Amino acid sequence: MSQNQEKPVESHVFEADVARLLHLMVHSVYSDKDVFLRELISNAADACEKLRYEAIETPSLLGGDGEARITLTLDEEANRLILEDNGIGMNHDELIEALGTIARSGTRAFMERIGANKPGGEGSQLIGQFGVGFYSCFMVAERVDVASRRAGSDNAWRWSSDGKGSYEVTPIDPVDAPARGTRITLHLMADAKNYTSRWTIERIVKEQSGHVPVAITIIVKPG
Ligand code: ADP
Ligand code: MG
Repeated sequence: MSQNQEKPVESHVFEADVARLLHLMVHSVYSDKDVFLRELISNAADACEKLRYEAIETPSLLGGDGEARITLTLDEEANRLILEDNGIGMNHDELIEALGTIARSGTRAFMERIGANKPGGEGSQLIGQFGVGFYSCFMVAERVDVASRRAGSDNAWRWSSDGKGSYEVTPIDPVDAPARGTRITLHLMADAKNYTSRWTIERIVKEQSGHVPVAITIIVKPG
């Protein structure tokens, strides 16, 4: 046996500084903060579409409520924006799989595109392409709580994160989650208070989510 063959080959995986990667995503990839709303609304609409599809085989999933809805609640006093949908929802594993995996589509391609990205350029196009849409909400929120209940399930879960590298998942009382679907509470940053203004939200929804095939209702919480 030659000496060469005896040399052990070390194989390592790159350590990812998730906190830095998230920071980079949130602060350099997205040029226009408003796009977070389009991303969350498009996820909500996708969830409604997934439910409609699954209900073709399993109509009981609809529980008698076949009308897809997205509701935005603006709470100026608490500086919160809440998005709720009555779509498919997520169970424990789906929350971890869907919201705990970043840039699934490939870090190298992602980093290359960041390098090629010009300020004010194609940033918003990148978001959908690389599956980092959900994280755009950390541009405007210091904490995000996701309460979800999968269609047909009796259990509800809360996913919570400050977007700085870790998240928590907790079982919650189903009464604290939608009867079916997902409620996302954005605890807005102090400088993102404008996202509790009906005028602002109506404008963004009209500009960016006009094509969404699900009815969107805006509720202003009295202060
Ligand atoms: P993409 O929409 O491109 O898959 P996102 O980052 O926008 O990437 O969302 C990641 C995943 O999180 C979605 O694919 C979906 O599985 C899940 N998700 C996000 N929001 C919701 C929601 N409101 N209801 C159900 N699942 C959701
Ligand atoms: Mg999305």
